[in-house]
Formats: sequence, C-alpha cells, structure tokens
Amino acid sequence: MNIILLGPPGAGKGTQAHRLVAEQGMVQLSTGDMLRAARTSGTEMGKQVAAVMDRGELVTDEIVIGLIAEQLDSDASSGFIFDGFPRTLTQADALGALLESKGQTLEAVVEMQVDDEALVERITGRFTCGACGTGYHDSFKKPDVEGKCDNCGAEGTFKRRPDDNEDALRTRLFAYYKDTSPLIGYYYAKDKLKRIDGLGEIEEVAGQINTALDL
Ligand code: AMP
Repeated sequence: MNIILLGPPGAGKGTQAHRLVAEQGMVQLSTGDMLRAARTSGTEMGKQVAAVMDRGELVTDEIVIGLIAEQLDSDASSGFIFDGFPRTLTQADALGALLESKGQTLEAVVEMQVDDEALVERITGRFTCGACGTGYHDSFKKPDVEGKCDNCGAEGTFKRRPDDNEDALRTRLFAYYKDTSPLIGYYYAKDKLKRIDGLGEIEEVAGQINTALDL
C-alpha cells in the first residue's frame, strides 16, 4: 500500500511516518530527509539547496522528483509512505507517472489537518535525535532522561533544524498554502483523499490514520 502524508510543516507527518515504518514495515520516503542528508554529506546538490531550504522556500521540482525516482525501485513490499512529497501539482503528476511506470498504485492520501496557531508552537519547540531520527518536543514530548534518546540511548546527539524558526516557518507555511494545498482538491477529485484531525495526541492521530487506511 503506497500512501502520501499531506499537511503543513509541523502537522506530524514525520512522526506518523516513523510509526508506520515501525508498525507496518512500510518504507518512508521523505524528500526533506534526503535533502538534509545531501547537505550533510556535502554533495553539489546539497550545497545548491542549502540556502533555499534555510529560508523555507521550495527546492526545484526537478531535484525532488529525481530523488524520488531513484528510490522507487527499493524493496518495499508493505509500500511506500511519501512524506513531504509531492508538494506541487507538477510533483503530483510526476509521482503518478512514476508509480504507473512501475506498475504500482497510490492507495490513499492522508491529509493531516492542524490549526495554524498550533504549528508555530509545535515547530519552534521540536528537536530530534541525530543518531536514530526520533522526534521530541520541549513541551509535548521530552526524553525520559535529559539529553538521552529514549529510543536508541544515544547521548548528546539532539539537534534542531535551522529552518525551525519563526521566519522560515512563515515562508514554509506560505509555500504550503500557495503551492501544496491545491493537492487537496487534486487528490479529492481522484477519490484518494482521507482527512484526519492532526491536532490530538500522537496515539490519537495514529488511531485515526489506521482507521482511515483500514489497518
Ligand atoms: P521537510 O522536512 O519536508 O519540512 O522539508 C524541508 C525543506 O526541504 C522544505 O522547506 C523545502 O525547502 C525542501 N523540500 C522538501 N521536500 C520538498 C519538495 N517535495 N519540494 C520542494 N522542496 C522540498
């Protein structure tokens, strides 16, 4: 089952994708994670996108479509979770064509709805473990032992994203409403859209997603 998690920055797409990977054995394809990895490893493309990402703008369709195309042959018998992709209508068309060329289908698009006010609070307090990627939050999800990851036990590896500040967040929200939100109508018309309330606790949201996907 291939699905898209759609929603504004801070809606909880990454958190729910990690859970689906752990519980269902699905494969997460996050273009944001791929771009950050390209930056960390210092590739030409990574250098090219760094400033754009830090400002909170979208990188070109060509780059992200290329990243996804490279991954679609990965072994994913339980399906792919597209997280943060597609973000434009061009990307959505390209994904449809890529899946079709592999004889695959898109099962559902889960739209995670979150109030704009809540996004600022969620994003400005979040951090992750640099070793395993588990997400935390200053107010909502602190690690059991300060400075130590609950999941993998790594210490001193917590990091914050450079674009998780209020200025970049405004730009990311603007990009979401301008370029990404048309995908809601696009997938509604294709009868793929499942809307869920992303505001609740992680477990509540998980339950809604499972119900929407018949898991
Ligand atoms: P994310 O981790 O999904 O919030 O993505 C972080 C940043 O990477 C975004 O603000 C964009 O600059 C870039 N990015 C990630 N995915 C895409 C995409 N599908 N299209 C364009 N830019 C993207």
